[in-house]
Amino acid sequence: METQPCNVLPHVILLSFPAQGHISPLLRLGKIFASKGMMVTLTAPNKDGIAEKIRISDKTISSEEPTSYGDGKIRFEFFADEAQGITVPEQYMENLERIGKRKLTEMIRESAEQGRPVCCLIYSCFIPWVADLGESLGIPSAPLWVQSAASFSAYYHYHHKLVPFPTESEPELDVQLPCMPVLKPYEIPSFLHPQSQFPALTDSILSIFKNLNKNCCVLMESFQELESEVINYMSKLCPIKPIGPLFLYSTNIASTSSANVSVNGYITDDCKEWLDSKPANSVVYVSFGSGDGVKPEQGDELAYGLLNSGVSFLWVIRPPKSDLLPKGFLEKAGEKGKIVQWSNQKQVLDHPSVACFLTHCGWNSTMETLSSGVPVLCFPIMGEQVTDAKYLVDEFRVGLRLSRGDFDKTIITRDEIEKCLREATAGPKAAELKQNAMKYKKAAEDAVAEGGSSHLTLLEFLDELKVEVPGEVKSTAKENTV
Ligand code: UDP
Repeated sequence: METQPCNVLPHVILLSFPAQGHISPLLRLGKIFASKGMMVTLTAPNKDGIAEKIRISDKTISSEEPTSYGDGKIRFEFFADEAQGITVPEQYMENLERIGKRKLTEMIRESAEQGRPVCCLIYSCFIPWVADLGESLGIPSAPLWVQSAASFSAYYHYHHKLVPFPTESEPELDVQLPCMPVLKPYEIPSFLHPQSQFPALTDSILSIFKNLNKNCCVLMESFQELESEVINYMSKLCPIKPIGPLFLYSTNIASTSSANVSVNGYITDDCKEWLDSKPANSVVYVSFGSGDGVKPEQGDELAYGLLNSGVSFLWVIRPPKSDLLPKGFLEKAGEKGKIVQWSNQKQVLDHPSVACFLTHCGWNSTMETLSSGVPVLCFPIMGEQVTDAKYLVDEFRVGLRLSRGDFDKTIITRDEIEKCLREATAGPKAAELKQNAMKYKKAAEDAVAEGGSSHLTLLEFLDELKVEVPGEVKSTAKENTV
């Protein structure tokens, strides 16, 4: 296939909700498209100065000018969200729809005028109106679903009222979804429980299901071999395309930093030297993603659980949470412990000294740990994290459960944490978890390698768009450079 001149590269626009968990995976996808010879515009409202922070974090894409990436190009375009004074989440969403539709329409028009018509709109959760816009302009659209197929199925069945879910009068009801294990009330995505404290979030997530038939498909950050039964089942109900793990694809350009964009603007701390100083399989990595993390009351127990286990730990705690640690704790931990504000998580998980990951089970972290062959201690907090924990512990068998998320009104004690840490890092259980985790690492690498399930699905997607791309994804998983 001949390379087309740059000014006619097929143009895809990725629209993100302004949050870490949305922008990072869309950027990963954008880089794959760019590496295949597309012009990619990643756009988002500039909420809380996110644009400047991203530019600080990701030096590979530093301006609105297209940056060459593989056989294609990639650029950011942020727009003012005009949300001054708006504090109510529902109002922010309404405002975003109004402003976003206008901006996106302008962008599409300008691009067409420049002889570069937009061939596809990809968007993250919470902004389902992109499908309406795509339909009205005759441009195919697809959401990128950055949760498991199992969670997708739970939301889908809930939205269409296909199976009973817990209600105010029956809060303890178990949920049986097709091709999935029975989920206890504390194992369904917690936003679907009547006691959820975040009804606005529930509505935002579910809104995507109202518009599904206006999309050409749903791109999914999962892979066939990980969730085969539920993927096969859900594929009969709607066109889902598992194309993950996105960060395992490699491109022509070696850049790992940008796959770890810190939208919060924290500088990534270098952990390598400290990890290098530790023996193999001796460190627990502790991170609760980009959200608020554990309740302040949990801080002491977690800290002393780590300390008493005798296992070295690398713990991500961001500034507003710095007071989580008990007085004098760091002095007691000495060389055994390191606290950082933000890590290059993939680099940490790939380090031989890391034995396990104490995680909140966000889906990105779940995919990253599975793809790195690192066992987990599950400390879910809310949302889909509790469902991910169920799968990590009971289905994938790569972890132990510490918390039940929002439903755990109790504090997890230091003794429980110490016991689980010891079990997950040494002895027969640790060996079993590691063996299982390594199986998923191999499966994830195979999925994105040339001819693997995710790679083929990605090519199928581009084929359906009728996009002629000059390059081929260099997806030798061993390079891991996206
Ligand atoms: N992350 C990181 N460094 C950190 C903490 C988190 O790079 O110190 C990244 C992590 O690799 C993942 C993302 O932030 O890609 C967190 O996403 P996840 O879905 O796990 O959790 P969320 O933040 O959405 O709750």
